Amino acid sequence: MAYIISDDCVMCGACAGECPVGAISEGDGKYVIDADACVECGACAGVCPVGAPNAQ
Ligand code: SF4
Ligand code: SF4
Repeated sequence: MAYIISDDCVMCGACAGECPVGAISEGDGKYVIDADACVECGACAGVCPVGAPNAQ
C-alpha cells in the first residue's frame, strides 16, 4: 500500500520536497508517487494545498 496522488494535483511541487524517501516525481499532468518507495509517512498529504495525495 502507498499514497496515491489524484488528478486534483495542480503541480505545485510542494510534496516532492517533503518526501523523506524521494518517492515523488513530476509526471504527465500531475506529480506521481513511486509505490515501492513510499513509506506512508503522510508528509505529502500534509503539505498539499488541494489534498491530492491520499492513502490507499
Ligand atoms: S506518504 Fe511519505 S513516503 Fe509516501 S510519498 Fe508521501 S511523503 Fe513520500
Ligand atoms: S503538493 Fe499536491 S498539488 Fe502540489 S505537486 Fe504535490 S500533489 Fe500536486
